[in-house]
Amino acid sequence: MTTLVTGIGELATLDDTLDRADHGEGLGLLHDAAVVVGDTDEILWVGRAAAAPEADHRRDVGGRAVIPAFVDSHTHLVFAGDRSGEFAARMTGTAYDGGGIATTVSATREASDDELRALLGGRLAEMRRQGSNVIEIKSGYGLSVEGEERAMRLAREVTDEVTFLGGHVVPTEFASRRSEYVDLVTGPMLVAAREHARWIDVFCEPRSAHAFTVDESRTILEAGRAAGLGLRVHGNQLGPGPGVRLAVELGAASVDHCTHLTVADVEALSAAAGTTVATLLPGVEFATRSPYPDGRALVDAGVSIALATDCNPGTCFSSSMPFVLALAVREMRLTPAEALRAATVGAAASLRRDDIGIIRTGARPGLTVLDAPSHAHLAYRPGVPLARLLDLDVVDLDAATSAPRPRGPDLSS
Ligand SMILES: [Zn+2]
Repeated sequence: MTTLVTGIGELATLDDTLDRADHGEGLGLLHDAAVVVGDTDEILWVGRAAAAPEADHRRDVGGRAVIPAFVDSHTHLVFAGDRSGEFAARMTGTAYDGGGIATTVSATREASDDELRALLGGRLAEMRRQGSNVIEIKSGYGLSVEGEERAMRLAREVTDEVTFLGGHVVPTEFASRRSEYVDLVTGPMLVAAREHARWIDVFCEPRSAHAFTVDESRTILEAGRAAGLGLRVHGNQLGPGPGVRLAVELGAASVDHCTHLTVADVEALSAAAGTTVATLLPGVEFATRSPYPDGRALVDAGVSIALATDCNPGTCFSSSMPFVLALAVREMRLTPAEALRAATVGAAASLRRDDIGIIRTGARPGLTVLDAPSHAHLAYRPGVPLARLLDLDVVDLDAATSAPRPRGPDLSS
């Protein structure tokens, strides 16, 4: 079964081989465009509406803009509990040091599989309503062999991009026996991870008593690599540190946060462009009231960048990629086009994928419809629910792309 999606006012394909109409921004823009989508979301045809082939079904999006669905390449969605009190305390001056993760570990350990599954499903639905499709999901709130295995198993039910994060923090019961915990992560937990995960990640942050030193991080990452997992790193979040350069040295696919970078870090990332992506998570800076990384300087230095939410209960409980884009433009001085690239093809590259985050024949990105004439409105209209993942199984576009909207008084006049 095939569907012709037509009436697309502006189509940002993100395919830079089509990059004629958009002044070199790399968005592969087409106007008055159409897309034919086949089973399993495969893109069968892209081009001008006037030249579109016939399809089994037809869907007119009424002149709206369409983009590839966002790729959220950094999330921690398998958790229970609530840390709104910690957030409120932070907003009145308490610093974040990673210690609150233990609160989520306790709540997650107490939750049943079905409770966690329901929470995870609700968060994924929330993301789809905001235009995201492929989501990377990390473990890291179990921190025992059974707890980590369970988190990865539940994540694997909903995504191919599962990351083993036994190296999130040292759990309190191992605080005086750190090396024993590293042995657990690189031993039986890693054996469990091989069944479910594609990636291994570690919170490399010598400034935090809860996270891992550079030597511990290296041990964990090298064990993961030997087990066949790809590498990701939480690095340079709380201050300058060794995480970025460790990630580059080991050829990690992504080093995430990059909040505090030295000139040498930027040079290392620039030299590693095309191999190691710097994934920026501005929702975290927002929610921890931290300085934003200089995204402009990274782009100007030729660094490969991605944007993601880091959706988690402690440092950024937002599932919204449009919010992240708006922050990246306002606070990190990216252009709207650069932010869109980072949230789609850039994030796909951080997962070493070229079949998502781009609208081209053979890819399976999912289509995101914007209640707007242009992708630029994502940053221009922050906080407005413009983006929806298009559900081709739902016939009515408004039902497929929008929650019902109450008809309130007209406040525009
Ligand atoms: Zn994270």
